[in-house]
Amino acid sequence: MNKETLQQSMYDLIVETSTNLPKDVRRAIRSAKERENAGTRAAMSLDTISNNVKMADDNVSPICQDTGLPTFKIKTPVGVNQLQIKEAIYAAMVQATKDGKLRPNSVDSLTGANSGDNLGLGTPVIKFEQWEKDYVDARLILKGGGCENKNIQYSLPCELDGLGRAGRDLDGIRKCVMHSVYQAQGQGCSAGFIGVGIGGDRSSGYDLAKEQLFRSVDDVNPTEDLRKLEEYVMDNANELGIGTMGFGGETTLLGCKVGVMNRIPASFFVSVAYNCWAFRRLGVKLSDDGGIDEWFYQEGDKIDLTVGSQSELETAAADSGEKPNVVVLEAPITEEKIRELKVGDVVQINGRMYTGRDAIHKHLSENDAPVDLDGQVIYHCGPVMLKDDEGNWHVKAAGPTTSIREEPYQGDIMKRFGIRAVIGKGGMGPKTLAALKEHGGVYLNAIGGAAQYYADCIKGVDGVDLMQFGIPEAMWHLNVEGFTAVVTMDSHGNSLHDEVDKSSLEKLAQFKEPVFK
Ligand code: SF4
Repeated sequence: MNKETLQQSMYDLIVETSTNLPKDVRRAIRSAKERENAGTRAAMSLDTISNNVKMADDNVSPICQDTGLPTFKIKTPVGVNQLQIKEAIYAAMVQATKDGKLRPNSVDSLTGANSGDNLGLGTPVIKFEQWEKDYVDARLILKGGGCENKNIQYSLPCELDGLGRAGRDLDGIRKCVMHSVYQAQGQGCSAGFIGVGIGGDRSSGYDLAKEQLFRSVDDVNPTEDLRKLEEYVMDNANELGIGTMGFGGETTLLGCKVGVMNRIPASFFVSVAYNCWAFRRLGVKLSDDGGIDEWFYQEGDKIDLTVGSQSELETAAADSGEKPNVVVLEAPITEEKIRELKVGDVVQINGRMYTGRDAIHKHLSENDAPVDLDGQVIYHCGPVMLKDDEGNWHVKAAGPTTSIREEPYQGDIMKRFGIRAVIGKGGMGPKTLAALKEHGGVYLNAIGGAAQYYADCIKGVDGVDLMQFGIPEAMWHLNVEGFTAVVTMDSHGNSLHDEVDKSSLEKLAQFKEPVFK
């Protein structure tokens, strides 16, 4: 294969995967939109997602700022030089990172140092397999941390919340799969897709589960029992009412694919890989010189999800006559203003906000803040940033990250520094809820994965602190306009996340009785 041609093909594969949502995924999202009732929080979220997908198309920018742990699956005929393919992937990764198509995501597990170019021990993941066909099949999945953290593995038999005992049979497997959807709630940026692996050991089971995510959303399982299981899960998981972003609603799951492999008698694992709505996986068939002959997952029309959408969160609500309370906030925010907010209110933020995620929260728990945070807004976000020739920073993608990771720190930090609002996704736990009540604070849920939509709200980068933590983890000073989010935890002890968790657990219990004998 020609070195330059092969490298260009790998670069194109990375850029397309990061910026262009596959056609089969678009079809699934459109069906979800058709099921939702206008004016609900779920419908509003899906509209924002649709706009975001369109913006990523138009700007050739990452759909979500978390471009994940890139995982390549390459099938090669006998005699193809796999080392050459590896080198091409490495070079393409470095270039795509430099061009802002991938976030620098490779971090030393011991020191926390970011390699800056997405290369490092174990990153990216490249899995080779030899096959009898005479061409190279190269596929890539970009699966972010929010959904990766919601993967789950069950060891049968086991006891499950709401469902009771799951035994070592098809019905026990069914219960595990239903439970996996419940336990993810909205934290993996629902509505999601799941890949299920039955059997194997702890590592091969998870591999099999992830392998299912490379199947087309529209395919039909050739194994009759598994086809029935997939259909059952698709028919029933949406009854749980978790909905897009965990806001409640008609669609919780967009796809379910199940694979099976043998196991040893002593072990029976059911492994589930959860993928967010931003299901970024594509593939190519390579020609002999390393060029691209064919794209996979791209059959059919490319749907523009914005056709038929309303563009503003509150517009959709207004049309249904259920217009939520829309409140404009600008920091510094007073305690009085915060205490007026209630769960369900839509908030639009103008002016300053500061990003802060894992490294910043740990830092602030042990050190003074580099800026005065009294009355300020913290955004759980690790953006994709690019510096121009004049040294100015530009935001290329900036959606929310999963907030629950900051649960050990958040309440204490809010009280200590006087922070009034925290924006993220997926909600937070009881410690933060208690601190919001005591101190006068709110938690705002932004739309997970809407990285282009939110980047567009950022009108300038006014500064940055703590760059030693790397680009995603630094504290960026952002100037925003019309940054929209929903109050999901207020200062009166209310949490939408707790409500949805409770009601979905009650609904899960209706699937307790055996279905498969
Ligand atoms: S859409 Fe959500 S879960 Fe998916 S990569 Fe983005 S932030 Fe992570």
